[in-house]
Amino acid sequence: MPLLEFVDTHAHLMDEQFDSDREEVLARAAAAGVSRIVEIAASLEDWAKVLAFSRAHPDRVRCALGLHPYEADRCTDEVLKDWARQAALPEVVAIGEIGLDYARCPVPAPIQKETLRRILEASRAWGKPLVIHCREAYADLREILGPMNLRGVIHCFSGNVEDALFLVKAGFMLGADGPVTYPKNSVLREAFRAAGPANTLLETDCPYLPPQSSRGKRNEPKAVMEIAAQLAKVWGFSLDAAAHATTENARLLFGL
Ligand SMILES: [Zn+2]
Ligand SMILES: [Zn+2]
Repeated sequence: MPLLEFVDTHAHLMDEQFDSDREEVLARAAAAGVSRIVEIAASLEDWAKVLAFSRAHPDRVRCALGLHPYEADRCTDEVLKDWARQAALPEVVAIGEIGLDYARCPVPAPIQKETLRRILEASRAWGKPLVIHCREAYADLREILGPMNLRGVIHCFSGNVEDALFLVKAGFMLGADGPVTYPKNSVLREAFRAAGPANTLLETDCPYLPPQSSRGKRNEPKAVMEIAAQLAKVWGFSLDAAAHATTENARLLFGL
């Protein structure tokens, strides 16, 4: 048994990049101390897949059902009805990823914002925390989440200190990924210093966003240890304490 325990709270292991060695990736994660993985569905077509994957690994994998802002124009009343039904399943520990993406998203911002508001309002009745994706849209995200009194995580947080403090106050944890280990990202490290260990989750967003030691390669859940080691430095913690704090946060938020 590894001495340290981690949770990867945001993975996309159903991605075809893992088709040839998915079970080996899971085994490497376990060997590195990753006790739980939250597998994230970004598209309606992924929902059945992530549920099946969770059921195949009941002691290791849980899932979240989402609709990425790239698909914000697909959120019909039918979809919301289906979402409400499936959100109640025991394998589903969160709603997401959902959110705003103004970087390269084909769906216009007003439609993204309207869809996000509809999902957030509907999700109040579902009783599960939210996994929020936000790219180059922090001003609008703060405007939407600020008054709503919800809880969840801003996954792959990429904002500044002010965004971090605002979103923590609004009820959200911040997800730390590979980019926090990149030498030039000192602003991001300052944001996680401000948010602190009580409000930070580890995640990989694999196969995307590998940490510094494997940049340019496929990412996988065992990389949470490298992210934790970076955060430990930022907080003046031991690796053990950083692993413990972030694992407790994941348990609390997702009921793992
Ligand atoms: Zn995302
Ligand atoms: Zn993701």
